[in-house]
Amino acid sequence: MDINFTKTTNRDIYRQQLEQELAELIDPKTGRVSMDVAEYVPCLLCGESKRYKELFVVKGYPHVRCEVCGLVYANPQVNEMRLHALYGSSKANDLWLDVLMSSAESKTRYELYERYFVLLEKFTEYRRLVDVGCSIGDLLVVAARRGWDGLGFDLAQKAIEFAKNKRGLNVQLGKIEGFGFEKNSLPVITLTGVLEHLNKPIDTLAKIRDLLTYDGLALVQVPNLHSLHNMLLHERSTSFDGRNHLIFFTAETLSKILKLSGFKVRHIGTYQAVTHILCRYIQYYPPYEGAADFKYLPEKIRSYFENPEKHGQLIKWIEDMGMGRSLMAIASK
Ligand SMILES: [Zn+2]
Repeated sequence: MDINFTKTTNRDIYRQQLEQELAELIDPKTGRVSMDVAEYVPCLLCGESKRYKELFVVKGYPHVRCEVCGLVYANPQVNEMRLHALYGSSKANDLWLDVLMSSAESKTRYELYERYFVLLEKFTEYRRLVDVGCSIGDLLVVAARRGWDGLGFDLAQKAIEFAKNKRGLNVQLGKIEGFGFEKNSLPVITLTGVLEHLNKPIDTLAKIRDLLTYDGLALVQVPNLHSLHNMLLHERSTSFDGRNHLIFFTAETLSKILKLSGFKVRHIGTYQAVTHILCRYIQYYPPYEGAADFKYLPEKIRSYFENPEKHGQLIKWIEDMGMGRSLMAIASK
């Protein structure tokens, strides 16, 4: 187990820059995100605009829960034009690519995507996919290893250049809509770490569905609101930033949004756990600032972090309880 993931993946440098950029959008009078760049939005799942409760505010960015459907989302939200521009100009978003390019991060993602493919291959005979929001192409690397033919799209130029020039992957800068695919032509579309960034997730899912063949599949991965880590840390969790992550799904709300977009959910599960942060937190340390140590852990709990076999059991238990860090669904048209 890597015990200081925050540092070895350069997440600390990324966080610092992100926090600076988030602070630039705060109205000093209210201490909250400025209404010059943000707007109140109806629930992104059910459209309800009045009945919601504020859960917490992260550095000036309020997060609410819809009382009708249960969706948790940032509200007010930085508007779409502004967000779109940030994919080209944000230094923090660039630094996030450095996080992704670190070997510790890639290794974790490869392991995760291998598990996804084992499952996906049980649902389809096709070995051809389009990855929407492919970033530096980790999923496409795993796809290629398993004999799949993959094509990726992303809005970040630096990511696309890395995927193309360093990894020789088949990728395109831009949106999938701009590529001119015919309706009902793609057998598998994957979206990992995409939906939670969107102002209009249902529109995107409906477009994806249109592009799928009649027996086509979508694989969707989002951060899990009900991860053990998010449920314990609440606003301290770096999952919540107010600008990059706009929506937080649970197994229930992810199923709902897929059904509302015309999909049938074939599988839903949670994967992986960030135990090093939890390990720090339950010892009353600041969760992200430093390496894990086991000094103040109660003895019985300690064995679950120190002993690899028991640690494996702990991870499996977290996943089985639906508290893994990533929520993944496979849905058919
Ligand atoms: Zn709602």
